[in-house]
Amino acid sequence: MSETTATTAADLTDPAYAASLDEADPLAHLRDRFAIPDPDLVYLDGNSLGRLPLATRARLGQVIDEEWGRGLVRSWDQWIGLPQRVGDLMAEHLLGARPGEVALSDCTTVNLYKLAVAALDAGPEGGAIITDDDNFPTDRYVLQGIAEREGRELRLLHTDPDEGLDMDRLAAALEAGAVALVSLSHVAYRSGALADMVAVTELVHRAGALVLWDLCHAVGAVPIDLMAAGADLAVGCTYKYVDGGPGAPAFLYVRRELQAELRQPIWGWFGQEDQFEMGPRYRPRAGIERFLTGTPPVPLLAAVEEGVALLAEAGIEALRAKGVALTEYLIGLYEAWLRPLGFSLASPRDPARRGSHVTLHHPLAGLIVQGMAARGVVADLRAPERVRLGPSPLSTSFGEVHRGMTVIRQVAEDLRKERRG
Ligand SMILES: *Cc1c(COP(=O)(O)O)cnc(C)c1O
Repeated sequence: MSETTATTAADLTDPAYAASLDEADPLAHLRDRFAIPDPDLVYLDGNSLGRLPLATRARLGQVIDEEWGRGLVRSWDQWIGLPQRVGDLMAEHLLGARPGEVALSDCTTVNLYKLAVAALDAGPEGGAIITDDDNFPTDRYVLQGIAEREGRELRLLHTDPDEGLDMDRLAAALEAGAVALVSLSHVAYRSGALADMVAVTELVHRAGALVLWDLCHAVGAVPIDLMAAGADLAVGCTYKYVDGGPGAPAFLYVRRELQAELRQPIWGWFGQEDQFEMGPRYRPRAGIERFLTGTPPVPLLAAVEEGVALLAEAGIEALRAKGVALTEYLIGLYEAWLRPLGFSLASPRDPARRGSHVTLHHPLAGLIVQGMAARGVVADLRAPERVRLGPSPLSTSFGEVHRGMTVIRQVAEDLRKERRG
């Protein structure tokens, strides 16, 4: 009898099990720091757009009413240093970088362009660019555009869409002749596959090239140590796990030792030495500021500061532990409920090899995501035929994952009956 009870208590499909995980979760209280106007909604898309922190709503009210409404142009005294201040905060708590190595500016796409061109200008003449053929579209397009303009070779590494980067292919591509730049995503946007930043950086450096990391799906979810890896350059957005809101500015990182020799292609006045002297000739500022361009979106920059403060309060190691627990639980429910219904795992099975999202393949993924949305479960459809599930370590509960997986199972069962009937 007692044995039966013990088995039941460990049954992860039981909602009571989800409740016990929530009870034991040291970050559970942080869910209350978010605006959750519709408690029945299951939100598994925190890696497309993070939820709204309550502190951000208050901060935006202050920025709009007091700093802009009352202070007007006088508030630039406090706004002018914001891109570097928020950059330093991200460097310390999320990126493993030193003060003065990170700043916020533009969007990820534009930052990628700026840093890629800067790296190529400083590298061997005509050196090739390497990326992978499954990298995020904007990354591939930006690098294609640069390669075409400059007449450089772009080598695309063939990559398994579910398992991620193949180190042997990278090594072979590096050996195939002069390479100036390798640009890769730390966490793959579709599968969540996590690249080994230390091993890749070492390999790229041995070939005499620079490495540029896209951290969009990693920052705020997995610990990043740019300094320990010796990484050269990085970019990433702040509206996914950082919860900065739609259109929040992206960040860029340039290793301190490289800053003086790199020149970015957009010569804007925010990158200019003595900006307000309005001088005749562009002279880039000395530090990370030379990678700034024009006027930053101040309200959303303030929102990023609130998002980073919340992540810092939780601590990136605790966030990572929760991300692993959430995705392991999600995969456990997939094995119990969804695999028998024709789903397969389209992410690495080993949690050490993936970020904080999980992707499932199903031939009817499009209809399934539609059916989920109709029943209040938000996730992403990703081609080809994949459902991407992105719980956020700060704001997603285990109960929410359980409810979401219950709905996916119902939708898939209904589709199966319809097709048979
Ligand atoms: C989300 C994402 C982007 C977004 O770029 P934007 O310029 O902000 O639109 C870029 N790269 C990766 C890997 C992403 O996941």
